[in-house]
Formats: sequence, C-alpha cells, structure tokens
Amino acid sequence: MASAEGRRHRHDRHGRHDRHDLVPLAALISRELKSEKMEKPSVRYGYAAQSRKGEDYFLIKTDCQRVPGNSSSTFSVFAIFDGHNGNAAAIFTRENLLNHVLGALPRGLGREEWLHALPRALVAGFVKTDKEFQNRGETSGTTATFVIVDGWTVTVASVGDSRCILDAQGGAVSILTVDHRLEENVEERERVTASGGEVGRLSIVGGVEVGPLRCWPGGLCLSRSIGDMDVGEFIVPIPYVKQVKLSNAGGRLIIASDGIWDALSSEMAAKSCRGLPAELAARQVVKEALRMRGLKDDTTCIIVDIIPPENPLLLLTPPKKQNKLRSLIFRKRSQDSANKLAKKLSAVGIVEELFEEGSAMLAERLGNESSMGQSTSGLFTCAVCQVDLAPSEGISVHAGSIFSTSSKPWQGPFLCADCRNKKDAMEGKRPSGVKVV
Ligand SMILES: [Zn+2]
Repeated sequence: MASAEGRRHRHDRHGRHDRHDLVPLAALISRELKSEKMEKPSVRYGYAAQSRKGEDYFLIKTDCQRVPGNSSSTFSVFAIFDGHNGNAAAIFTRENLLNHVLGALPRGLGREEWLHALPRALVAGFVKTDKEFQNRGETSGTTATFVIVDGWTVTVASVGDSRCILDAQGGAVSILTVDHRLEENVEERERVTASGGEVGRLSIVGGVEVGPLRCWPGGLCLSRSIGDMDVGEFIVPIPYVKQVKLSNAGGRLIIASDGIWDALSSEMAAKSCRGLPAELAARQVVKEALRMRGLKDDTTCIIVDIIPPENPLLLLTPPKKQNKLRSLIFRKRSQDSANKLAKKLSAVGIVEELFEEGSAMLAERLGNESSMGQSTSGLFTCAVCQVDLAPSEGISVHAGSIFSTSSKPWQGPFLCADCRNKKDAMEGKRPSGVKVV
C-alpha cells in the first residue's frame, strides 16, 4: 500500500498545459459523437448490504450529464461512505460531495479536458465537503470512496479504508484505492506524526496496549476522512485519486466498506462472484464475507460491470483459458484495419493508467496553473470552496509553502482566507482546533 503512494509523481499530469483554443460546444459534441458513440460500453450495477451499526451509506447515480441535456455526455457515479461516531458525516457527504466536485469543474470543457480536470476537482470537492460539515459543529466522520465511470475511463477518489478494486477481463485484480489506515500505512503514520499527531494503541488498565494503531487526540484508526472535527486536523480529507482507462474488454469494479475487506482479500472477493451478473455478484460478495467472519461491522458492496457493447455476455463467462482463447479469435475476426493495434492491445486486457496522486499537500494537488480559478466574470475564485475573491483577497496556494522559493507566490490557484487557514491546519502549521480569525 505504501509503495503505491510512493509512486505518486510518476503519472502526475499537472505539468501539462491546460489552455486550449475555444471550440464551439456543438462542434465538440458532434466530434465526440463520431468518435465515441459506437464504442461506449454499457454499465450494469448491483448493490447489497448487511447493517450492524447503520453507519454505511452509498450513492448510485447513473444519469449524470457533463453537458446538461446532452445524453451522449452521460456518466455514472458510485460511492460508499462508511461513517463512524454517528452517521451525520456520511449522510452529509452523500448529499453534497457530488455537487461540490462538479462545482469545481470549469464549464464548457470537452470530454478529454473534463476527464483531465477531474482529479483536481475531486480534491477541491472533498475538502469543501469536509469544511462545510465541520462548520456545522457536529461530531462524526466518514470514509468516502467515490467512483466516476465515463465510458471506459474510471476515476476513483478515496479517503479512509473503503476499497475499490478492478477485476479486469482475464482475471487480473488490482486495487484502485489506498487504505488510509494507521496500522498498515507507514507513510501516513509518518505524515500524521510530523504534523503533530500522536500515534499509539489504546492503553487499558495496567498499561496493556490493545487494538489497532490510532492517532491522538481522537483515537481514530484512519489517517484521512471527511468530518471528524474532534480529532486533529492532520486527519485530512484530501483524497488519493487514481484514473484508469479500461481495455475494450471491459471489467468489473467492486466497491465495498471494510466489513468486506476485513473478511476477504481483493482476490477472494473478485473470485467469489465471477460469472454472476452484477446484482447477484454483490449479494454473493456480502454472503461470502459474512460466511468468513460473521456480521461484525456494517458490510456494504457495490458491483459495477463495464461491458463492451459488442459482447454484453462477456462478463458472464467465467475466465477459463478456453474462453479467453475463443474471445481472442473472435476479436481477430471482427477487427477492422484502422484500429488494429488498439484492438490487439485491448484483447490482451491492457489497462492504461492515466493518473495517480496520493499526496496530502493541498498545494501539490491543486497545481500551479495560473488559468485555474479565474471565473468567467473576470473575478478570481477560491480553488476549494469556489467563492469569488476580490483581487486583494486571494492568497496563492503556494504562498509560504515550500513552493514559494521555486514558483511565484502570487500565482494561482488562489484560496480564500478560510481555506488558507484550513490548509495550514492540515499541514500542522498551527495547533489544530484553533480558529484563526
Ligand atoms: Zn475557500
């Protein structure tokens, strides 16, 4: 798990130039229709849960539109929120996170630009949701594993330990999230300690230490979450984000709370439901987890099948060697010469990794492109909460950070004073819980 975070800069695309010539929207849409309409996969999903504490919540929304009113711009959202110390944070996040993410995306982007802007918008949306919930003064916190499926591209953002795995055609299982648990994640443990948190186990009478590693104050086992105003602010809401493009063979996503993952490994979960349609598969995974461990915790599972349009039954076939061979032959016959190579690559189930970033530093995650944050009205907006800023008001995300020596401290993106305070608190630059007015 730690190694995944260590590789975080490898696929960082923030350096790429964002500016592009303006193309009329109608032209963009027709261009996209031509190139993608025939190739868009279909999405099927299933959901199952067994409740113990009633703190697991989920979101399934398959009718989101990038361009309102344009059905060819449809994308789907699947999410799990596993609450702790009450359910208020989980409910609030389910109600607000999607809107906050969409609100942080610039208007009028084409599909590729939109996908490229998503990782940064996800960071802004997570932080804004956390900030708003904390302002309500309620305790409780939640994990958030938030998955956007747009065609063959899957973007996952997560805090906490509700994992999302990908079972690609051919039987290769990969984890698209990182578990933000102090017990297993050494890198996060070091970050929390460096920001002023104490990490240790619960100490019972006689000084005997029990249970998993927790951070103090608060006693949380997670190193990232939304909410949790009563723990240190080094427990940040900044998500690990990963974006992949599936091959034309499609694949299956399994998104689940720790009730599943404490009982089953990623491979076990994927194997247990192969060959079953999504709805049955979700029930099977929950059943298997309960069989292994009993109902110890809220146990929630969402299955998302991304299915090639030309072969909707492909995912129903268990991936035996014979079947794989047959589908390879089938592909060879059906391919046309124009995209011969692409189809050859996808026939062997190559999943393309487009983006991966897990840093907990807001400045790194919001990038340094000066075009970001300038609204159409010519005013500057806060990169996190999107409020308009007067020219004198905005503070560059880079001001006073390690970046200020290498890049211009007056360059965007900009933060309002409130979000700037939050950024400093998350980085341990002021005592947590102390409001700077
Ligand atoms: Zn702000």
